[in-house]
Amino acid sequence: MVCVLIATVLVLSVVVFQFSKNIRNALQLETVETLKNVAEQNAYTIEREIEAMQDLLIGTSLELGEYLLEDKQKGIEVLTPLVEVHQFKRMAVADASGAVYSTDYEQMNLASHDNFRRSMAGEVVVTSAITDVVDHDDMINVISVPIYEESSDVVQGVLFSVYSTEYVQDIFDSDLFDGRGYSALINSNGEYIVNAKQSPGYGKKNVLTALSQASENNADAVKQMRTNMRFGLSGSIYVDYAGARYIYYTPVTLRNNIESWYVITVVPEVVLASRLDSVMYQADMLALMLLLVTVIAGSLYIIVYRNSKKQLKRLAYVDPLTESDNVEAFKVKMLRLREYPGYVVYMDIKDFKIVNNTCGVEKGDQVICEVAKKIAQLLRDKELVARVSGDDFVVFLRETNDASLLLRVEDIENCMKEISEELSIPRIAAYFGIYPTTHQESVEEAIGHAKRANQFAKQRSDQLYRFYNAKDYEDLQKNKQIEDAFEPGIQNHEFEIWYQPKYGANAQSMDGAEALVRWRKKDGTVVSPGDFIPLFEKNGMISILDEYVFEEVCKQQKRWQDEGMRIVPVSVNISRASLYYLDIVERYMNILNKYQLDIQYIQLEITESAMEDNDQMKALIQCFRVAGFKLLLDDFGNGYSSLATLNMAQFDELKLDKGLIDHIGDDRGEKLLYFIIALARSLGLYITAEGVETKEQFRFLQKMKCNTIQGYYFSKPLPKQNYGSLLAG
Ligand code: C2E
Ligand code: MG
Ligand code: MG
Repeated sequence: MVCVLIATVLVLSVVVFQFSKNIRNALQLETVETLKNVAEQNAYTIEREIEAMQDLLIGTSLELGEYLLEDKQKGIEVLTPLVEVHQFKRMAVADASGAVYSTDYEQMNLASHDNFRRSMAGEVVVTSAITDVVDHDDMINVISVPIYEESSDVVQGVLFSVYSTEYVQDIFDSDLFDGRGYSALINSNGEYIVNAKQSPGYGKKNVLTALSQASENNADAVKQMRTNMRFGLSGSIYVDYAGARYIYYTPVTLRNNIESWYVITVVPEVVLASRLDSVMYQADMLALMLLLVTVIAGSLYIIVYRNSKKQLKRLAYVDPLTESDNVEAFKVKMLRLREYPGYVVYMDIKDFKIVNNTCGVEKGDQVICEVAKKIAQLLRDKELVARVSGDDFVVFLRETNDASLLLRVEDIENCMKEISEELSIPRIAAYFGIYPTTHQESVEEAIGHAKRANQFAKQRSDQLYRFYNAKDYEDLQKNKQIEDAFEPGIQNHEFEIWYQPKYGANAQSMDGAEALVRWRKKDGTVVSPGDFIPLFEKNGMISILDEYVFEEVCKQQKRWQDEGMRIVPVSVNISRASLYYLDIVERYMNILNKYQLDIQYIQLEITESAMEDNDQMKALIQCFRVAGFKLLLDDFGNGYSSLATLNMAQFDELKLDKGLIDHIGDDRGEKLLYFIIALARSLGLYITAEGVETKEQFRFLQKMKCNTIQGYYFSKPLPKQNYGSLLAG
């Protein structure tokens, strides 16, 4: 921001500088233009005045010339009124000898004077400013015209009119540039005809010489002016002439004057400077004000900006509840601790909801603040704590090994105990996800790993902490992939039904089969249910899969039947997770009706663990039974067995788990089986043995009067086609 302000001031300065430069140039041009105008105006006025005087003199000479010469006394009397009217200093008449009679009765001889001689030669002459021979203090200009003999061109004498140079000076605009500029009349040689009193060259004869003498620097300007004047051109020069001055020269075109004259108009540069000063003063004031406004506005902006930035920073990095660091602050600070290896610990308070629910949210907030405070007190140099959200905190501890880290975690656990006592709340504890970091990964990743470890810690009951384990994470990833692939898998019919035949123990003929799902991935690999069923049971997708399998089996059974094959009942597995859906019976019945399959050809296997003491499930199973399904109690004896389950009236058939069959061969195992089978039979249950792999197992089961055998001994689960061929016989 400060940079922006400096840049603005700089730009402004450049603008002001450029602005004043432009003004100076404009004023310079304007000055020269004014000079030109004044000079031209003056030249015009001079032309008119002098020509008027010449005309008057010529007219008088023609009318009265001879008379004037004849009687000089009377002639002068005639001229006197003209002198007054035209503000001449005097008029005079000279005869051919140069003897002069003037209106002020001065007598002199001008025979040797140049203007007399030239007028005697027939010229109308206007002289330069010359010293008055009568009045030596005064400078005069004289116009002289020839007096001709009547009706001939013989000159008899000369008629003069003399006027004070001051009179011509008055013609010039004396108010030029507040009186500091002036005009003068010169001839093309640079000699003054009329000079102004303000002129540094007043009293000197030649302006060009005066200029040349004033400064060596004027040489070029003088040369240019002299050349231009020789060709009757006008122009301007800038010279050092008692200070810097602008001079404009323009020709005066006089009738009857064989000499060419120029009006020069001069203005000292100080005039320009003073005019410039006043304009520049205003410009400077304006610039100053602009600058002031910019600086004030900029400063205000900086103050407001800094404040709001502070505010924003607070919002961005401070947790509003605990007033300590939030996770963003943690991330930033962690970046500065890259050289220190340690542990990122993600903790959240176990069952914090209970605190909120039983003690109120206010108390809950108090607990969170205390936790933040107490952990902060436990921290050592270059260690951090931040609240992530809710009751989640992230801590960075600079320990070098797991054992010492766990001691620190214990300290935090003790804090929880203290807080529970101090605030009189139910005992609180926390879960800790621990990730050792050497800062190879990003802070976000480190926090993510610790958080994931924390989630795994929550899933365990034995420990409150868990170290990050890449495999946990990989499993999580894998599960995520499986979940994501499920829906498209169903749509693309990637789930195949395989059939494992069941054999009657005595007749050794196939009298049933179990439908077992397989997931054939796009790449052709076949995935076993053990790899995805447990996951789908957790996330609820299993109900979709079970229904899909049920429908596929119904459809296939019907098809085989329609093809004239002798089909046998096929049992499909229903996960207990599917039994959370109250409309399951109705849906299955609809499918059955849709394919018009006789209900005897489809049976349901429900695992033993599904028989938890859940009235809703029991009711659903009862509904299936009432609907006419044969129900098989699956996996009996696999660890969760309870003999009480056998007492459940809904089941038609008991499936002995492979775990029990595997014990055939050892005495205790065989005894157990003997009694289970005897008990089940006495309860009226039909018995199937699963996972029968050996002849020995088969023989034993046959002896035990087990009804049906399912296992690799007879057949592995078969793809649809193979099973179909088996049916076809
Ligand atoms: P389950 O219902 O107890 O099915 C029997 C399992 O034992 C099958 O494994 C079968 O291949 C295997 N098996 C059968 N005879 C032998 C044998 O002689 N030796 C050995 N080692 N294994 C044998 P599978 O197909 O891998 O299925 C595993 C479990 O996945 C099933 O156990 C069942 O609980 C579940 N499952 C399979 N298909 C579905 C389904 O469509 N829905 C649901 N909810 N669960 C299913
Ligand atoms: Mg089964
Ligand atoms: Mg089973």
